[in-house]
Amino acid sequence: MNRIFINHLKKIHDEIRIGNNSVEKQQCNDCLNWHQAIQYCEFCIRKYLENNFENWTSGNNEIDKLIQEFQQKTTAPDRVIEWIEYDKFDDVEHLTEGECATIYTAIWNDGSYDKWDPERKILKRFWGVLKKLNNSNNNNNKKNNVNWFQEVK
Ligand SMILES: [Zn+2]
Repeated sequence: MNRIFINHLKKIHDEIRIGNNSVEKQQCNDCLNWHQAIQYCEFCIRKYLENNFENWTSGNNEIDKLIQEFQQKTTAPDRVIEWIEYDKFDDVEHLTEGECATIYTAIWNDGSYDKWDPERKILKRFWGVLKKLNNSNNNNNKKNNVNWFQEVK
């Protein structure tokens, strides 16, 4: 069978497990929490993200808190909500206009989080597609702070 397809199924399986409290848990060798995902420890991912809280800011305390809250509920390495500075993007191009969003394409050189590396205990990155919400930068944002959200791949 196709290896990519199998990996995709394993990913979906892990996400479903995290939402289901009746599944058997395994104890993590690193953080000692009892995790529900099989391919990674969701607690190690959340801890990694938490340790990174002081390394980014949207410039808006409420948005920061919201993103942090989402990050503490992360269920998979490729489902992390994060703040990205505008200058992290290259080749930003207008794609289309929707009812409440303008969609742009851009090259995000860092790429989005994709996989948990259990050896190095870090989230590894991949590439993404972007979407900018209209009217989302209405208060005290600095010139380069535009609210970007990662679209589901
Ligand atoms: Zn762990």
